[in-house]
Amino acid sequence: IGDSNDFDREVKSVCPFCGVGCQISLKIKDDKVAWVDGIDGPANENRLCVKGRFGFDYIDHAHRLTNPLIRLENAPKGLNVDPANPFTHFREATWDEALDAAANGMAKLRDSVGGEAIAGFGSAKCTNEEAYLFQKLIRQGFGHNNVDHCTRLCHASSVAALMENVGSGAVTATFNEIENADVAIVIGANPTENHPVAATYFKQFAKRGGKLIVMDPRGQALKRHASHMLQFRPGADVSMLNAIMHVIVEEELFDQDYIKNHTENWQAQKEHLADFSPEKMAPICGIDADTLRDVARVFAGAKAGMIFWGMGISQHIHGTDNSRCLISLAFMTGNVGKSGAGLHPLRGQNNVQGASDAGLIPMFLPDYQPVGDDGVRSAFTEVWKSDDFSSQKGLTVVEIIEAIHAGDIRSMYILGENPAMSDPDVDHARAALAKLEHLVVQDIFLTETANYADVVLPASAFAEKTGTVTNTNRQVQMGRPAINPPGDAREDWAITVELAKRLGLNWDYTHPSQVFGEMAINMESLSNITWERLERENVVTYPSLSPTDPGQAIVFGDGFPRADGRGKFTPASIIAPDDVPDEEYPMILTTGRQLEHWHTGSMTRRASVLDAVEPEANCSLHPRTLRKLGVDAGGIVRLTTKRGSITVMARADRAVSEDMVFLPFAYVEAAANILTNSALDPFGKIPEFKFSAVRVEKADQI
Ligand code: SF4
Repeated sequence: IGDSNDFDREVKSVCPFCGVGCQISLKIKDDKVAWVDGIDGPANENRLCVKGRFGFDYIDHAHRLTNPLIRLENAPKGLNVDPANPFTHFREATWDEALDAAANGMAKLRDSVGGEAIAGFGSAKCTNEEAYLFQKLIRQGFGHNNVDHCTRLCHASSVAALMENVGSGAVTATFNEIENADVAIVIGANPTENHPVAATYFKQFAKRGGKLIVMDPRGQALKRHASHMLQFRPGADVSMLNAIMHVIVEEELFDQDYIKNHTENWQAQKEHLADFSPEKMAPICGIDADTLRDVARVFAGAKAGMIFWGMGISQHIHGTDNSRCLISLAFMTGNVGKSGAGLHPLRGQNNVQGASDAGLIPMFLPDYQPVGDDGVRSAFTEVWKSDDFSSQKGLTVVEIIEAIHAGDIRSMYILGENPAMSDPDVDHARAALAKLEHLVVQDIFLTETANYADVVLPASAFAEKTGTVTNTNRQVQMGRPAINPPGDAREDWAITVELAKRLGLNWDYTHPSQVFGEMAINMESLSNITWERLERENVVTYPSLSPTDPGQAIVFGDGFPRADGRGKFTPASIIAPDDVPDEEYPMILTTGRQLEHWHTGSMTRRASVLDAVEPEANCSLHPRTLRKLGVDAGGIVRLTTKRGSITVMARADRAVSEDMVFLPFAYVEAAANILTNSALDPFGKIPEFKFSAVRVEKADQI
C-alpha cells in the first residue's frame, strides 16, 4: 500500500500465513504497514510469496474490531445479520464489563454443573505463549482437557502416526534439506499454492537434477518439474504406497542394515506387503504397475530421499494409515536421520507446530506429554501452583461439536478459530454454536463464528503483538510488534490473562517473555532456547544442543525417542472412504486452499490485492465434465452432498479428473464445509475433508 523506500521505521517479524515461516521486514509509515520485504531467514532466504508480500492491508481494514462487544438481549444468533451492519446484534462495552461478562458466564457453569461444561478452541494463528496460556486456562481453570485447535483439521493423523512410530510429532528434517537429497516424494500436497516459498526449493532441487516424484489425485504446477507424476485415484493412497513398498521388498531394495539397527516389526510389515503387488493394486489406485515399480526403484535406489506430505494424506478416515505407509517407506529405505533424508509433513498455519508443541491439544500437555501420566501432570501443577486436573483425554474439535448437541458442553471460549466456516458438516457445527448458553469469541474481525458469540473480545493482528512462533521446520522465531492495535483492541495473551484472573487463577504475567520462561521449565524441546537469545538471533531450531547451537536440522540419526530407541513399522490395510459415490451422488468432492486465500478467508479476503486476484467463490471441474453438464466455463453449478447444497461459479481445470470437483473453503457465500463429511480417522480424529460423494448439476443463478 506504500512506497518501498518511504517509511518511518522497519521491524523484523515473521509472515502470519503459512507454516513455511518466512522472515519479513515490515516497513512502517504513519503507524501502518506500508511495505513488506523478505529478509534472510533460514526458511526463506529473502523470498516471499504473494500472500507474504501483498497480503497485509487486512490489518487496517474497516471491519477490524476496536471495542469489546456484548450481544443485545434476545438478539438472534447466526449469520443472518444485515451484511451492511454486521454489528446490529451487539452493543459496545467497556473492557471491564466484557471481561466480567465473559468470565462470569463460564464461572457460573463451572461452579454449578462442573468445568466439563466449558470447552476451548485456541488458534494456530496465535503465538506460542498465547497457545500455552490458553491450554493452561482451560486445564487449570476448568479442571479438564477439553481444549483443541485447528491441528485437528489438518495434520492430527500425521502426528498420530509419527508419535506412534517415530516417537515425535515434528519433522525429522527441515524442508531445506532437500538440497542434499537425490530423490523427493511430494504426496497429497500442493506446495506452489500452499507452501509457495518451500516450493521454490523443490523446483531448484529438480533443476539441479534431483528426481521429484509428485503424487496427487489433482494435477498441479509442480508437475512441470517432476520426474514422475502419479495422479492416483482419490482415497487410494494405501494401495499405491503398499504396492511401491511391495516392490522394494520383492526386489530386495530395502536397507537391511538400517532396518536391523534402527527399527522394529519389520517381519510383520514384510509379510503384510506380500498381498499388495503392483499388478493387483494398479486397478485400485489407477497407476499402472510399471510406473509403481519404477518409482519404487528410483526411491529405494537413491542415496538419500525425503518425503513431504500435506492434507491430501492426512484428511481421510485412513489418514493415520496413509502416514504410517510414508513412515514405513522412509524406514525401509533408511531415509531418516541423515543428510538429504527425512519425513516432513508440511505444516499448514504459521504456528500450528508451535501451538501443538505448547499443549493446545486434548491428549497432551506441552511437548506431547500425556495428560494421563500422573508424574507429568504433577510437574505442571507444581509450576502452576495449582490443584491436579483430569487425567482423561479431552474431546477433539468435532467431538466438542457433538458434545454441545448432546448438552454436555454448554459454554465455549474460542480464540482466533472460525469453526462456523472450518468445521466439517458446518451447518451442524453452526447449530451447535447457536445452542451454546455462553460463547466468548476473541478475534480481530467479527468472524462467522463471532456472529454466534455472547461476548466478543477485540484482539491483535500479528504485526501488533510480541511473541514467538514455530514453523514447519521446528524453527522457533521471534515476532515483534510494529504498530499499535486499533482502538481498544488488546494483545491476545493479555486478554487471556485478564480472563484467568476473573476465573480466580493466580496469574501475574506482565509480558510474554515470562510465559516463555515458564514454558521452558517443562518443555525439553526449548532447552537452550531463551527469550533473550531469540531477541538477539531471531530464530533457533529445536532441538538446540547448547546455548550457541543454532539447532539441529536433522534429527534421529542415533535412535528414536521411543522406549526401545527404535522406529516402528505399522502395517496399513486398505480402508474405503466413508462417503463413497453412488447413483445419486456420483462424483467426488475434495476441498482445499488457493494460493491467494488463506483458510476461512477472514484475513485474505480483506487484503485488497489478494481479493482483487481471487474475488469470487469458485470450483474446478474438468472441461469434459462441464461439457457433459452443459455448463460453460464461468457458469454456475449446484453441488449437493448428503449434508447440503451450494451454488458456485465453475472453472474449467484439467488438473481435476472427470469424476472430481475441487472446492476452496475460503468463501462464506459458497461455504465448502456445508458439503463435507464429519466422519473421523479413529486415531487422529481428523475429518475426511478430502473425499465426499457429490452430485454436480447446472444451475441458473447463485
Ligand atoms: Fe508467508 Fe508462507 Fe508465503 Fe512465506 S510462503 S510468504 S510464510 S505465506
